[in-house]
Amino acid sequence: MAYPNVQLHINGEWRPARSGRTLEVLNPATIEVLGTVAHAGRDDLDEALEAAEKGFQTWKKVSAFDRSKLMRKAADLLRSRADAIAALMTQEQGKPLPEAKMEVMAGADVIDWFAEEARRAYGRVIPARAEGVYQLVIKEPVGPVAAFTPWNFPINQVVRKLSAAVATGCSIIVKAPEETPASPAELIRCFVDAGLPAGVANLVYGVPAEISEYLIPHPVIRKVTFTGSTPVGKQLAALAGLHMKRATMELGGHAPAIVFDDADLELAARTLAGAKFRNAGQVCVSPTRFLIQERLYEPFVERFITAAKAVKVGNGMDEGTQMGPLVHDRRIPWVEGLIQDAKSRGGEVRTGGNRIGNKGYFFEPTVMTNVPKEARVMNEEPFGPLALISPFREFDEVVEEANRLPYGLASYAFTRSAKTANAIAAKVESGMMTINHLGLALPEVPFGGMKDSGYGSEGGSEAIEAYLNTKFVSQAGL
Ligand code: NAD
Repeated sequence: MAYPNVQLHINGEWRPARSGRTLEVLNPATIEVLGTVAHAGRDDLDEALEAAEKGFQTWKKVSAFDRSKLMRKAADLLRSRADAIAALMTQEQGKPLPEAKMEVMAGADVIDWFAEEARRAYGRVIPARAEGVYQLVIKEPVGPVAAFTPWNFPINQVVRKLSAAVATGCSIIVKAPEETPASPAELIRCFVDAGLPAGVANLVYGVPAEISEYLIPHPVIRKVTFTGSTPVGKQLAALAGLHMKRATMELGGHAPAIVFDDADLELAARTLAGAKFRNAGQVCVSPTRFLIQERLYEPFVERFITAAKAVKVGNGMDEGTQMGPLVHDRRIPWVEGLIQDAKSRGGEVRTGGNRIGNKGYFFEPTVMTNVPKEARVMNEEPFGPLALISPFREFDEVVEEANRLPYGLASYAFTRSAKTANAIAAKVESGMMTINHLGLALPEVPFGGMKDSGYGSEGGSEAIEAYLNTKFVSQAGL
């Protein structure tokens, strides 16, 4: 499939912006222009809002049984188109083609899972105090949703929000990423081709702040869901609060990866290096602060450096590439700035540390040690291929470091002791912890943070609940 000029999808129609405005889409591996994306203006947003309102009135009346059937069809379409969609994603986002394909296939699993949950959004009956009284708890769709999604997982970030909305009978306006617009458009197309009525799923692109400032306060919108950085999330959550909109915020992280002395060293180093350099570190749950107990510190550093040096960096379309470029030009100076600052405070670059070439936004897999806590990178989210390894002595000391930051998204631990595993899971302030393996982000398990990493969940039954209102009806017989 040739890279398209990506259009808006409003009220069942694929079309350009009313103004005709477009933005260029670049391939981050080559800096070549791939195509364009339509740039929505106020008139397009008004049409999308009107469509979402109309779509909601239609869709909420469709039974959960039929919604579920349609979603399964969309999931099958997505699977059948996975190769073509993955190629679009790799061109616009940079990640290796097999990773893009995995993301598309996992997206289909997300749709299937929400399709199953759609039929299980049960209410309940509460025993009444008087005979003949029925106390009913009823779940209703919250209404039209405004969703804002980032470029790091162009399909995965949309599919969780879209599937939850469609499953529950809501409508949605997705503001998808301008950097990576084609693959999320193809996801929406699968729903459209599966028979989703006009107005239920609408897709726009443009200036993110202009769109969020217009959609969030708008009376048609009943729920806001955002994935992105903590500073932006706080602004959008404040706006949602001001207008009393339900909100789910999936924000930044700075995940601690704790390796205890009794861990399987080879497993820990191999697993964590794989997790660190996946998607060039541009992952909200990426392990970042590697905290290694003294006995294993030196051998862990040595193995991790070896693993970092072995990562094959290149164009994601080339066979064998394990890490692609960063997504856009702003990421390079950001990562360079963090490394410079850490070096100026005594941090040591053990491998990597530099941009690769000047064509494409490639960056070396980088490992730093001796980085003091005051360094910016120990406090701000690197969102790049940067691992910071530090030693620790005692359990309490590592808990203090793990919880030092305002972030609380993901955490990792390696230990052979069940007692230590239980203790660390209890003490670390994070929305998710995975121990001795990588076990996060399946559709059926909760996905979300605490503290400055946001609130709400994008997986598990909690993810459906976030799109439902609870209505209580007490009914006495006549
Ligand atoms: P950025 O802050 O400019 O944008 C991050 C995301 O938020 C983008 O998708 C952007 O479109 C969106 N955004 C920005 N301002 C917005 C607004 N006012 N209203 C609605 N959406 C808005 O930064 P960037 O350089 O593109 O990305 C880097 C930072 O973003 C990282 O440090 C990381 O914290 C965060 N990020 C997080 C995730 C995640 O999965 N949680 C994904 C991508 C980016």
